[in-house]
Amino acid sequence: MTVFAAKIIWGLGCVAYYIIRYPYERRSRKTPVARRAHRSRERALIAISFIGLFLIPLIYVFTGQPALAAYEFHPALGWIGTAVLIAAMVVLYRTHRDLGRAWSVTLEIRQGHALITRGIYGRLRHPMYASFWLWALSQALLLPNWVAGLSGLIGFGTLFFSRVGHEERMMLEAFGDDYRAYMARTHRLIPGLY
Ligand code: SAH
Repeated sequence: MTVFAAKIIWGLGCVAYYIIRYPYERRSRKTPVARRAHRSRERALIAISFIGLFLIPLIYVFTGQPALAAYEFHPALGWIGTAVLIAAMVVLYRTHRDLGRAWSVTLEIRQGHALITRGIYGRLRHPMYASFWLWALSQALLLPNWVAGLSGLIGFGTLFFSRVGHEERMMLEAFGDDYRAYMARTHRLIPGLY
């Protein structure tokens, strides 16, 4: 694998992300919202995540900048990154399919919101965030640049750690003991671990 091929694969990941998400985004716009939590903070976090997962690597892919942060490309890392990227998109697809109308970009409770505990949500509470972690990891493996490679982990990590506690509190307020029981039998990101 060459750096050029790794950059193309990174780009294909962005296209796959868009294709997976687009139909749900359209549907979600049509589903009325009952409650929004921490709106402006949420928007800032999404902007930070977007800059790290998309904007900084995009600039790198087209300009090679910041050139000072470049390091030697290892094809083996590129292949591992490709496998991690495919895994990320498979998990992302499954989470969208299982969440359906319950999905939203920011923290929201829909009208008639149901607690989803089926499919991949039977084991993990935040499998969609797990898929974003994998996506950010694949970026670090595919792009041989300290800034453009690591910006996804930093950007999405900021969103994840600032959001996950608030999200669980919002779900507890909305679903009470059902969510408490669900928390007791699931992990956040990694089955059996965390
Ligand atoms: N944290 C989840 C979902 C991300 S989308 C994941 O990583 O897979 C964020 C929205 O999903 C939140 O606004 C919340 O309303 C909704 N949500 C999160 N977990 C849910 C669940 N188990 N059932 C229904 N909706 C859920």
